Amino acid sequence: MIIVLKPTASKEEIDHIVSMIEKVGLRTNISVGETQTIIGVIGDKTKLTNTPIASLASVDSIVQVSKPYKLASRDFHPPDTIIEIKKVKIGGGNLGIIAGPCSIESEYQLMTIAESVKESGGNILRGGAYKPRTSPYSFQGMGEEGLKLLKKAGAEFDMPVITEIMDSSMVSIIEEYSDILQIGTRNAQNYSLLKEVGKSSKPVVLKRGMAQTIEEWLMSAEYIMSEGNREVVLCERGIRTFETATRNTLDLIAIPVVKEKTHLPIIVDPSHAAGKWQYVMPMALAAVTAGADGIMVEVHNEPEKAISDGAQSLKMEKFSILMGEIKKIAPVIGVGFNLN
Ligand code: PEP
Ligand code: MN
Repeated sequence: MIIVLKPTASKEEIDHIVSMIEKVGLRTNISVGETQTIIGVIGDKTKLTNTPIASLASVDSIVQVSKPYKLASRDFHPPDTIIEIKKVKIGGGNLGIIAGPCSIESEYQLMTIAESVKESGGNILRGGAYKPRTSPYSFQGMGEEGLKLLKKAGAEFDMPVITEIMDSSMVSIIEEYSDILQIGTRNAQNYSLLKEVGKSSKPVVLKRGMAQTIEEWLMSAEYIMSEGNREVVLCERGIRTFETATRNTLDLIAIPVVKEKTHLPIIVDPSHAAGKWQYVMPMALAAVTAGADGIMVEVHNEPEKAISDGAQSLKMEKFSILMGEIKKIAPVIGVGFNLN
């Protein structure tokens, strides 16, 4: 339920309504807009039946929200959420350009890629240290040693860093080294993990589960937000369909659908959808053109020797070409990105 206040509502009147709602054990979410303030109510709204809220002079209208997600819903928070990590903004016309290797493999590899990503215009460095591999016999990542390298590369090239967190017991170690926590597709419905990152003060990039509907994906975001962390960036990375020509099917229409339903930023990872580097650039450009708030792209100094996901990784020069194209598109569609 949403309580839309009159533009004339004073702070005292707003506080009074909030205290009435909280007194009966419900939670509130206040969104202050330029002209109107709205109070979102979370919980069993029948508890408000005997309160005079609807008839208060400061209340304009009461709107019922039938969607199962509340905090993530645009009804609760009409303006776009902009997430700021160090100097980089994602959302509201700001593009987050996340790039780097699938896995951190060595100091030389990561530093070489980081330098090139930065120079090309990337503003966030990615690198996996704990890898969710389909086979237990595949390389599982460098672990803490990789996290140390990631932090070092981020500091050296002045970029915030992101890495995947695979388990709820790992929140504190990942938080120590990374500016952003990444939830992978395989963990998109790991509710205990979502709740744990919901208690973190670091922003979360939430990949779409490979078999998740958009509504289920938004419910995963709601799990994080309901624990207090409102800094969630959604990441479309391809879903499973009958099509086998590509690793996954990139659901680009999810961009406008998600933007209608939620205020959270949405970025697109064309690499894991494509499975092949040749398809990454057109899909990255399509994503930005369709209104995505950023991209996440795998980049490698020697893709043919990469320990994981080499086939879908862009060479550094290719990433630089992609960035050149994005720089041409961005002013046309009215978006920008921090170039430090
Ligand atoms: C990754 O980003 O390296 C990754 C494993 O992605 P996903 O969870 O989308 O498969
Ligand atoms: Mn990968």
